[in-house]
This record gives sequence, structure tokens and C-alpha cells, in this order.
Amino acid sequence: MNISQLEDVSSVDVYFICQMIDNIAREPFPYLRNIEDIFGDASSQALTRSYPKFTALHVFIEEVISSVIWEKASSRMETLENGLWVDHLFEANNINMDFDEWRGGVAFGCSIGEYLTFLSEEGFIDQVCEKVSKQVFYILFSNRKTLSSFSSMIRGYVLNAAPSFSPEKFAANGRLKRTRIPSWARGAVFHRDKGRCVLCKTDLTRLFSQKEKIHYDHIVPLALGGMNCVTNLQLTCENCNLRKGSRNTDTSFEYEVWYNY
Ligand SMILES: [Zn+2]
Repeated sequence: MNISQLEDVSSVDVYFICQMIDNIAREPFPYLRNIEDIFGDASSQALTRSYPKFTALHVFIEEVISSVIWEKASSRMETLENGLWVDHLFEANNINMDFDEWRGGVAFGCSIGEYLTFLSEEGFIDQVCEKVSKQVFYILFSNRKTLSSFSSMIRGYVLNAAPSFSPEKFAANGRLKRTRIPSWARGAVFHRDKGRCVLCKTDLTRLFSQKEKIHYDHIVPLALGGMNCVTNLQLTCENCNLRKGSRNTDTSFEYEVWYNY
């Protein structure tokens, strides 16, 4: 992460989206139709990809941002003259485009819907959603509780929808085949979990002892519809991993404080 991204992360909008994603992941019921649109049927194939860097969580975050852009614009609180939320996102994310002239015309005759359609067709909305989704991901990746809820939320699509579209990705027992974890994913999880088993806190840095084996555990096991995805991994010692087995989604919601006080 570079300095300019850090500036963006401090924006209220990013935390607002984080909160929404977390709420939906924990209480998906009111949003089932939208979730179905994003991950149902043929779209479920995306969930079978092996360790994509642009994860299913990124996709979901983008969809949520995009729907908030449209919802806010239709709320009557926003006017073209005063600027929409999406205009504010463009500004905060240094997306400078030369459409002032076009917008000036819009303000005198066209609707907000036409303006948004223009932004969408020109790719500006995709561009801002991608930028903001990376900032939201930066924050949510450190929260294993949100990640675990998210993986649980979509596991039904992995188990029930995806096999008909990508049967080769599944083992005979109906679960996704285990795939090799790339080193960038291992590195990210190792650093997030600070080199310790998240369940028993055993030190896995191996600085002074080689005795402990490092395991990268699927938070939602493959047998329960977990994905081969960096968002579904956590660091554990061998004992905890074996004890957890394939029917259990344990994670730890404890975080190490920066200092004691
Ligand atoms: Zn352990």
C-alpha cells in the first residue's frame, strides 16, 4: 500500500462500505436476491477459481458500492447541481475526467439516471468501484469474523450451483478439489495472523525452533463449501488444524493489541 491509498482509506465512505459488507455477511437474508444475482447460476463459476487475487469478496464489495451509488442517486437527497455521492468518490480517488462540459448540459435537461448511465458506459463507475473495493478489502481482510461470515454466506453456491458449470473443479465427494496455495497468499495470511496459530497462539515464526509445523487452514472447510481463496485461510499449528477437521468453521476473533495498557 502506498501513501496515496492510505489517504483514501481514511475516508468515511470506505468505513461505511465496510460496515455494509459486514452486516450483509452476518445477516444475508434480506439480500438473498442480490446475492443470488452476483453468485448464483453461471456466476458461481467465479467461486471455483483457485486463489484469484481479485477475490469473490472484491467482486461483492464492487457490487455493493455500485448499488449504493444508484440508490443514493435515486433518493432525492442528491441533485446534479450539488453533486452526487459518486462525484465525491471520483474526487476522493483522484479519478479526473473531462466530463464537466457534458455534465453542465445534463444539469439543464437530463436526468440523474442518464448521467449515471453515461458514467457507467464510459467505464467510470467500474473504475471507482475497483479502487474503493481495494481499500475496503484492505480493512476487511484483517477481520477474520467478517471473512468467515462471507465464506459461509456463499458456500451454498459453491456446493450447489458451481458443480454443474465447472464439474472438473470438484472431487467425487462433491467438494472443491484442494489446490496449491501460492506464496503471495501464504505471505499475506502469515503476516495478518502475526506468525501465530490463531486458535492456540503457538508461535509459528520458527525463529528459535523448527518444531512447529505451519498449516494454512481453510476457515470454512472445503467439505462445507469453502473456497480455495486467500479470504478463506488462517494460520494454525498442526494440532489445531487436525483437531478442527473438516466439519468445523472455528476461527478466533481475538486480536493482538499494538501495546499493553
Ligand atoms: Zn494451535
